[in-house]
Amino acid sequence: MIIVLSHDIRVEQYEEIKQYLLRKGVRLHESEGIEKRILGIIGDKRDLDRNAIEALPGVEKVIPILEPYKLASRKFHPRNTVVTVQNVRIGELNPVIMAGPCAVETEEQIWDIAREVSERGGQILRGGVYKPRTSPYSFQGLGVQGAKWLEQAGKKYGLPVISEVMEIEDIDTLHPYVDIFQVGARNMQNFKLLKALGRVDKPVFMKRGNSATLNEFLMSAEYILSSGNEKVILCERGIRTFVEYTRNTFDLNIVPMIKNVSHLPIIIDPSHATGRTDLIIPVTLAGLAAGADGFMVEVHPKPYEAFSDGNQSLNYSQFIQLLDDWRVIKDSVLMLRKRKLEEVEKHVSDYSAHLP
Ligand code: PEP
Ligand code: MN
Repeated sequence: MIIVLSHDIRVEQYEEIKQYLLRKGVRLHESEGIEKRILGIIGDKRDLDRNAIEALPGVEKVIPILEPYKLASRKFHPRNTVVTVQNVRIGELNPVIMAGPCAVETEEQIWDIAREVSERGGQILRGGVYKPRTSPYSFQGLGVQGAKWLEQAGKKYGLPVISEVMEIEDIDTLHPYVDIFQVGARNMQNFKLLKALGRVDKPVFMKRGNSATLNEFLMSAEYILSSGNEKVILCERGIRTFVEYTRNTFDLNIVPMIKNVSHLPIIIDPSHATGRTDLIIPVTLAGLAAGADGFMVEVHPKPYEAFSDGNQSLNYSQFIQLLDDWRVIKDSVLMLRKRKLEEVEKHVSDYSAHLP
């Protein structure tokens, strides 16, 4: 529910409306930058009577929000969320480049890849140390030792690092070493894990479950947001369909759709979305053209020797090719992004005029 306040609302009236709502046990979300004209309500609204609220002095109208997600909704937060990690800003004009191996394998391996990623202009280093593998016999990751190597390699080359956390107990273990916690596709609906990550002070990069709908995806983000962590980054990593020529199907539609309905940054992961090295470049470019706030790719010096996901990892020359190709379209993409940002600003400036 959104409450649109009158133009000429007085401070005392605003306070009274707030106190009235708080007494009903709901939480309030005050939109920044819209001159206090909009008040969002979240929580259990059973005790709220729309007509009674509309009768309060200072209220212009009440608008029900039909979507089940609130904090993740652009209606509640019209401007894009920008997540800052050290010197990297995710969700702003420039799409962000995240790269690294599927898994940290050895100290030398992660150092070598970190150097390559930073030299080529990558901004965030990825590397799994707890690996969610389909088979219990497959390599499961190096755990804390891997996290330490990842952190040191990132530090050396000035790259913030991201790694997947699979269990609540591992949050504290990983916390000293990672800059961003990744939630894997398989854990997108592990609500206890999401709530626990809602209480940490670091960004969460949440991947879409491989059969999750848009609503389910954003409701999972809502778990993290409503537990107190506003630094949520979404990731499209492909969904399960009937096609057999790729590991998953990259859902291009969801990129602009997320931008329409949510303020959260959306990153694409063409490595897991395709499972094929030869498709990573075209799919990355398509996703960026569609409005993605960045991409994450798996990179390995010798993909044929990788402990996991070698067949979807770029070798160094393929990584360089990807970045070269990105540069070919970059100026045009930035122009489109700039226009989108201007549209958002315009929408914010006459927000109430656009409300139904
Ligand atoms: C990964 O990033 O290595 C990974 C396991 O991804 P996903 O959860 O998307 O399968
Ligand atoms: Mn992988």
